[in-house]
Amino acid sequence: MWRRAERANEGRPVGEALAELAALAAGAEAEARDLGLRVEGRVLAVPGAVPNETGGRVERAPNLGWHGIDVADHWPDPDTVPEPENEANLGALAEYWNAEQAEKTFVHVSAEAGIGAALVIDGQLFRGARGFAGELGHIPVHPDGVRCACGARGCLEQYAGQAAVLREAGLARHRRQGDPVALLAERAGAGHAPTLVALDRAGRALGLALASAVDLIDPDGLVLGGAYAELAEWLLPSVRAELAERVTVRPWAPEALRPSVLGRRGPVLGAAQTTVRRIMADPTLLPAE
Ligand SMILES: [Zn+2]
Repeated sequence: MWRRAERANEGRPVGEALAELAALAAGAEAEARDLGLRVEGRVLAVPGAVPNETGGRVERAPNLGWHGIDVADHWPDPDTVPEPENEANLGALAEYWNAEQAEKTFVHVSAEAGIGAALVIDGQLFRGARGFAGELGHIPVHPDGVRCACGARGCLEQYAGQAAVLREAGLARHRRQGDPVALLAERAGAGHAPTLVALDRAGRALGLALASAVDLIDPDGLVLGGAYAELAEWLLPSVRAELAERVTVRPWAPEALRPSVLGRRGPVLGAAQTTVRRIMADPTLLPAE
């Protein structure tokens, strides 16, 4: 359901995309009710900037064409409006809460519609002054490079984002069909040279951006999440090579970069657990039956 929702969203009018998501969510709620469960929270994982005091607002999501969107304005049922949260944040939190030996300070970078990243510092999500920390996808890796959806040039996303990798691998026509990530893994596994070159190039660009992050915040780990986790076998060598070359403070162990244990399930799990943990921390939030 999640992947269907993800594709449904990309590049469509916001009202239409949210109506389809609302229908999917209503189906999930009906299934939960049939199991005797009560829904106590609704979270919309968005590949975009969600302010700290969101009030239901998504500031911008360039890959969806969203700018200053109030979710409630477009959600068909006022009783089930979800609270938006950045999907990279949710993925990182899920990794921290569920990985057996989670790092305390790490950067979690994932690729879905674009590239999302989140910083967990000393076990806390670092949101930034306004909530927009972790926009790694728009760090320039080639200052005069390709124009990005954000308006700037040469952003990481244009070299290591899903669309860029598919284009480079000669698989752009598959972007909106089936599961493009599984297709990339299948082609890479079969030794398809253009796919291997595309993933190597993406890994180099990722390594370049992540090396700056390592020098900036000195994390004890880096996690490749979302779709990257499924492509880790082909990305890790070039990301590690770039890190080995560029991280200033040594030693930097290659194993400090690892694939996420949750992959594309991360944001969904993070959304559910955020709600559960909020209620556990303050049970008075739970209305009496
Ligand atoms: Zn950009």
